[in-house]
Amino acid sequence: MTFLGMPARAPRGVGHLRGDESFPVAARKALANSQLRRNLQHATTTIRGKSGRVIAELPDWQELRSAGSALKAYTMARLPELLEQLEENVTAAGGVVHWAADANEANRIVTDLVRQTGERRVIKVKSMATQEIGLNEALEAAGITPVETDLAELIVQLGNDKPSHILVPAIHRNRSEIREIFLKAMPDVDPGLTDDPPVLAAAARRYLRETFLSTKVAVSGANFAIAETGTLAVVESEGNGRMCLTLPETLITVMGIEKLVPKWSDLEVFLQLLPRASTGERMNPYTSMWTGVTPGDGPQAFHLVLLDNGRTAVLADEVGRQALHCIRCSACLNVCPVYERTGGHAYGSVYPGPIGAVLSPQLTGVADNPSLPYASSLCGACFDACPVKIDIPSILVHLRNQAPHPRTEAAVMAAAAYTMDRPKLYASAQRAAKLARIAGRRGRGLPPPLNGWSASRDLPSPPKETFRDWWRSR
Ligand code: SF4
Repeated sequence: MTFLGMPARAPRGVGHLRGDESFPVAARKALANSQLRRNLQHATTTIRGKSGRVIAELPDWQELRSAGSALKAYTMARLPELLEQLEENVTAAGGVVHWAADANEANRIVTDLVRQTGERRVIKVKSMATQEIGLNEALEAAGITPVETDLAELIVQLGNDKPSHILVPAIHRNRSEIREIFLKAMPDVDPGLTDDPPVLAAAARRYLRETFLSTKVAVSGANFAIAETGTLAVVESEGNGRMCLTLPETLITVMGIEKLVPKWSDLEVFLQLLPRASTGERMNPYTSMWTGVTPGDGPQAFHLVLLDNGRTAVLADEVGRQALHCIRCSACLNVCPVYERTGGHAYGSVYPGPIGAVLSPQLTGVADNPSLPYASSLCGACFDACPVKIDIPSILVHLRNQAPHPRTEAAVMAAAAYTMDRPKLYASAQRAAKLARIAGRRGRGLPPPLNGWSASRDLPSPPKETFRDWWRSR
């Protein structure tokens, strides 16, 4: 069953799932930025190495991957009833559950909830879902100031920038760029600030500590929600998330409906998979869990906003629904040869890299993101790296079939089919291909309108002798 009563695609004009330009255009610009490529190469190589080493320590890594994959498939197959079970248990523990069909509805719900508290500022735990729906912009439009508390997210926010990696949103910045951003945009920063990483971290800590102690409303995402108990979980590395989740009076959590796991014991699998695949750590540094509200301890008002924004439509696609299994570890980004060269901005969505290339087009409808399924060499490295075994290459091919194809391509395919059906014509075509080989050698590639294909690829050389020639000669 896939109909949850909210069959909406992510709406246009709100949120960050669609870029201003197609992937090839944006990628070409990114490739021209050598500083960006150096930053990306250094960061992805470091994370890859660290992650590879700790994964190699586990003899049952493949079994853990299979368990994670099976748990996610089971969850998706029973999503409606598990979501209702979650709602029941969150409500019983003193929380309030809201259902949001799309980004507009979720933004309205959160803005109204903050307004009801009378506060004009919220602190935020790093959250992909709130970036997806453009919550910061919606809050600002309502006169409410959102402050990102994850260090990398803070760098992105102060720099008026966009995140370019799921886990390390400021991966495209180096330390001297970060120093410049802090000097320009951080309130009361020391003008003598250096680009030494501990000095930069201390400046952010000072600024954030004051903000934590004086803000009464927090907005978070969630890595997992446990249907059996109504418990929410956030994993992070800095402890800033823990401050947001415990210090304020009101906590509002925005969560994609796919973040569910059926039972508490299922976390045993995911909390082993996630840190090793993402940051290359054996155990996650800060794992915060909460169930509703507890009198006298932590936030006294808790709201959970369950977000669809196109996910039901993804669930309805039997091939594409695997994308909902993603636990946002970012391992597929770190191994992707395309991502390593272009960075995240070229994907035009908050979800970059291989997972973005399959998730964003499904959330928006492929017609709104038709170039993303092609942002891959189909090398399969993402599939091998994914801790929940999402077969990204198969989804990419599946989505390419749904993308609108240019008329020229359809005409070329029809001509190829016609030729291959007729042996004599096919033999003549092979002779013609030899001429094309000579043309290719001269560096001319294919003639217009097919030259786009050979602009970024080597024209494959036809063999000197075809099978037919060889056969005839014997
Ligand atoms: S698709 Fe797999 S590897 Fe990529 S972010 Fe999601 S869980 Fe991680």
